[in-house]
Amino acid sequence: MKVLVVSGGVISGLGKGITTSSLGRLLKARGISVTIVKIDPYLNVDAGTMNPYQHGEVFVLDDGTEADLDLGNYERFLGQSLSGSHNLTTGKIYRSVIEKERRGDYLGNTVQIIPHVTGEIKRSIREVAEAAGAEVVLVEVGGTVGDIESMPFLEALRELSYELGEGHMAFVHTTLVPVVGPVGEAKTKPTQHSVRELRAIGIRPNLIVARGPAPLTADIKAKISLFCDVPPEAVVSVPDQSIIYEVPLVLEAEGVGPLLARLLNLPDRPPDHSSWKEYLATYRRAETPIDVAVVGKYTELRDAYLSHAEAFHHCQGRLGVGIRLHWYDSEDIPRNPAIVARIEQADAVLVPGGFGARGVEGKMRAIALARTAKIPYLGVCYGFQMAAVEFARNALGVAAANTTEVDPATPEPVVSLLEEQKELSELGGTMRLGAQRVLLTPGSKLAEIYGKTDLWERHRHRYEINPKYLDRFAAAGFTVSARTVDGRVEALELADHPFFVGVQYHPEFLSRPEAPHPLYLALVQAALAHKEVPSPAAASPALA
Ligand code: GLN
Repeated sequence: MKVLVVSGGVISGLGKGITTSSLGRLLKARGISVTIVKIDPYLNVDAGTMNPYQHGEVFVLDDGTEADLDLGNYERFLGQSLSGSHNLTTGKIYRSVIEKERRGDYLGNTVQIIPHVTGEIKRSIREVAEAAGAEVVLVEVGGTVGDIESMPFLEALRELSYELGEGHMAFVHTTLVPVVGPVGEAKTKPTQHSVRELRAIGIRPNLIVARGPAPLTADIKAKISLFCDVPPEAVVSVPDQSIIYEVPLVLEAEGVGPLLARLLNLPDRPPDHSSWKEYLATYRRAETPIDVAVVGKYTELRDAYLSHAEAFHHCQGRLGVGIRLHWYDSEDIPRNPAIVARIEQADAVLVPGGFGARGVEGKMRAIALARTAKIPYLGVCYGFQMAAVEFARNALGVAAANTTEVDPATPEPVVSLLEEQKELSELGGTMRLGAQRVLLTPGSKLAEIYGKTDLWERHRHRYEINPKYLDRFAAAGFTVSARTVDGRVEALELADHPFFVGVQYHPEFLSRPEAPHPLYLALVQAALAHKEVPSPAAASPALA
């Protein structure tokens, strides 16, 4: 087993997840199999109950784990699906230590952070490595070195490197090199301090990835090398990139690929980045920008809808169509007519998933607009449920239509709680979660888009379409285009519309640069067609 650890210093939010994914990519490009583990030192057992405003989107894995959004980056960069065991949290580790203690597994011993908690951490990492059968396990340690919460994890990794021995484990430390003052001086002191912190706990970094606004000069690299006791070629510079998928190539250009091979005692074959380069070239070449309005509740924090943004990115890299995303807070819509006017000019509208009553009226306003003005529309999960409620209200005249999530006593529950959810009192991990089989209606638009009728998509919801309304929907041209194996509604599509599709599942979690999701590709193509149809809206100025 070979392990590559990525830690971070100075501040969080340095793009450690992207760095880790990119390092994995460099190894993969050399034909080395890899897998990744993310350590989140917080006490939550998983990310499912966490507010997207604090941590960004909750990323759902095939097995239903609600994970940190970095797991999404890993899957996208590596083109591999991961499972819950790839996300370790303090909550998970402690829970299993406490369960073992209660069962008497520790045979009367005093249970301590060292060796029991650290032992549990090492065991979990080894288990993932074995299950994945990968040559290299990358381990990203969340937070920054020096945080109390991350101590047991770093200690466990230090112990592991001792156990595995020379040539089996390497440490990468990501730090910030800020540029300050009127002449733009790059400052190495924060990096020095954070490396000192790391060395105080017995870890000597083998590679320093310096993040910052601009590339480091040879002088600054030499300075970091001297103060931090790493060879000059092991100080690499990754300046901010406008396209995150550039990072593997930046690292490659800095000579990191051969260096990793050397550190981990692996063969250094010439890397193959051809498909990646082609993706980036197509992305860059993109013309004919289309404007997509994304209407949600957490639009101030882009990370809350990261996978949607990435899915559109993948379409641009595949189709060469420029895609401009415009984010609108659904709560602003009822009180700001200017936003309505702008959505009217969009080439496509997306309403992503969400929870609760806040902002739903605005979402339905946007959906009504897309439906009646025939703007291509994709509704995902809550955006799908809202499309059903909007249709019932405005197309069928069922004025009281609602989801029981917003009004538990509604006389017209178009969307209501799954039977199995009615008894539950816990919030964490209790939704319908993860990859489930979806059967498409042969001959539907959706079936045509996918080019098949039997597939798997990831889920995360509690409420579903109430079958009672399906006949009336169908009579008005809003028909079921997908179902679960046991017949529940997974998708609806509108007949008399260029593209109006709602899906109960989350296609955004499966889109990857090398395999963009067919639904997003279809939406973008419909948007392109919409843009080319001359309309009064097309004559008005571009969206701000
Ligand atoms: N709130 C809705 C439900 O629980 C939709 C969930 C979602 O959009 N992820 O069913």
